[in-house]
Amino acid sequence: MNKTITLSAMAALLFVVFTSSTPMTTKVKPKKSKSGITASNLDKSVKPSSDFYQYACGGWMKLNPLGAEYARYGSFDVLGENNQKQLQELVVKLAGQKNAFGTVEQKVGDLYKMGMDTVTLQNQGAQPIQKELQKIAGLQRRDLSTTLAEMSLEGLHPFFGLFGSSDPDNSNMTIAYLWQTGLGIGDRDYYLEADQQKIRDEYVRLMAKMFQMSGYSKQAGFDGKETEMAQRVLALETMMASNFVDKTTLRDPYQTIHKCTPDEFQKMIPAINVQQYLKTLNLSNIDIVNVGQPTYFAGLNNILSVSDMEVIRAYMAWNVINAAASFLSDDFVNADFDFYGKVLSGKQENRPRWKRVIGTVDGCLGEALGQMYVKTYFPAEAKTRMEQLVKNLQWALGERIKASKWMTEETKKNALDKLATFKVKIGYPDKWRDYSALEIKNDSYYDNVLRARRFESAYRLSKIGKPVDKDEWQMTPQTVNAYYEPNTNEICFPAGILQPPFFDMDADDAANYGAIGVVIGHEMTHGFDDQGRNYDLNGNLTDWWTEADSKAFEERAQVLVNHFNNIEVAPGVYGNGSFTLGENIADNGGLNVSYTAFQKAKSEDAIKGDMDGFTPEQRFFLAYAGVWAANIRPEEILRRTKEDPHSLGRWRVNGTLPHIDAFYQAFGIQPGDPMYLAPEKRARIW
Ligand SMILES: [Zn+2]
Repeated sequence: MNKTITLSAMAALLFVVFTSSTPMTTKVKPKKSKSGITASNLDKSVKPSSDFYQYACGGWMKLNPLGAEYARYGSFDVLGENNQKQLQELVVKLAGQKNAFGTVEQKVGDLYKMGMDTVTLQNQGAQPIQKELQKIAGLQRRDLSTTLAEMSLEGLHPFFGLFGSSDPDNSNMTIAYLWQTGLGIGDRDYYLEADQQKIRDEYVRLMAKMFQMSGYSKQAGFDGKETEMAQRVLALETMMASNFVDKTTLRDPYQTIHKCTPDEFQKMIPAINVQQYLKTLNLSNIDIVNVGQPTYFAGLNNILSVSDMEVIRAYMAWNVINAAASFLSDDFVNADFDFYGKVLSGKQENRPRWKRVIGTVDGCLGEALGQMYVKTYFPAEAKTRMEQLVKNLQWALGERIKASKWMTEETKKNALDKLATFKVKIGYPDKWRDYSALEIKNDSYYDNVLRARRFESAYRLSKIGKPVDKDEWQMTPQTVNAYYEPNTNEICFPAGILQPPFFDMDADDAANYGAIGVVIGHEMTHGFDDQGRNYDLNGNLTDWWTEADSKAFEERAQVLVNHFNNIEVAPGVYGNGSFTLGENIADNGGLNVSYTAFQKAKSEDAIKGDMDGFTPEQRFFLAYAGVWAANIRPEEILRRTKEDPHSLGRWRVNGTLPHIDAFYQAFGIQPGDPMYLAPEKRARIW
């Protein structure tokens, strides 16, 4: 599950990868006749006490080998697949009918058709990006600030980005955040670690090839010297990377709060004309900005001052080409995939075109698609049942806070107040996004994507200086995911995730508590993890903890940091316990909280006894593990270990369960078993 902390939305450009979602069965009455556990998903040749992940998911992994287009394929991704097919059905229908120009149906249908029209795409080649490249080729230093802002309006953020987010001192207002961005490979470690040389070499190769294919090297006068220029751009990005604040430090919200006036920001970065930049973004009148990483901006000022303009231009052109590649002709699509798909993730082939195009339509017109999706696939009953589950979980977390042995009454009261004010969003938003200002025309696929990016940027920037819209959703309804947002103190469960294996309307609730129940508990716990605990019930960054309680929390959290630091995820490569701490706390808390709610339901006879040879407790843990069943490529293990704040599926099971007391009773885990951890070594937080 993602914890959408507002700041992570900053890194998110328009086209985030929408993973997953499945068929919403439109069955009506919950029959609860099934256990929710599929026998063929298990591997009974392995004892649950020696490798629970293999025991619970081994059968699934054998039955669901990795397809060539996947870096990881899990039960989670099965939902995504089915969801895409459902969206495709909706979209293809619109593409095949006559729609009045300007309607949402026309926009969805035509964008899909443009993306599927490979003949036009091939004919157009690199032509759709020529205007932007020409502009950059002629760029002078005095126009740098304006051009950077113009690129920002197109959703591109070379060097840095400006985004709207909640004022940490007054979560009701949106203010501008300035943030480090612009590394083409992704994580800064790729630039700084000696053993990533192969990836850097491939990156240079990609860039050089794209400079040539796009015609930029000719326009900018370095025809034939593409590799040399690509190396210079890599050197520029490496300087930026060495000034990047690392991802673990960024987890501490206090480290990223430095509010000042635009004039004060100007003093930090004389190389940029701040007023010019803000004016181009239509933000001349703002009187406050938050600088996320002052040290980065100080370093950037140096980099901009000493770098040759031809390198700065090449880097900016590369940003345009890189963000356009997957919407151009096949030579661009393939070069892009060879690096980002094959080299970084180990994928063998690209997704079929229709899936990529559905992803684009989803990215550009997400809520329009979502509105159609829930009408067809989301049963009202699911929402009602979910609301009850959320209430039960909320009660359970409250009971656990009250019973906590390490918090003082004062902090407990604050925690309970925060829990009681959680805003809960289920299924789909009450009001939908208005797409009337977005034009989808018959010029080129890329031009439409560009207009969609402009539409999105204008929408987000227009929020700066205004009250936060708390009814807005941070995910579309068709997304197979969930989030907690600390600034609004809200938990959100889109329709896309309310399906098996997370949520089965026909299954007994032991499995539902193990799967969607833990997801709910996970998101709630984010409100009290190493990041979320810094925000109060109103979403303001406020310390509501006594000093002793903070210290106790940190000691308890450290147990998980150490545990996950010691997990060898690949030969010689270890997990990053600090980086994954928030997610590991949320899994730990989610399991405990959902288990408490499940036990209460059991005591009220709402859970059946043994089913399919499993006790209710066993079904709870099997359902939990089943959510994380997946096959994954070695390259993807390495990439995720660097970039994903979540532990890998295997370790969300085998790393997390040894800390849960109830797990030991359910499966008779004994000292000496590989899944065993001595009671004093188990993390006990929420
Ligand atoms: Zn999470």
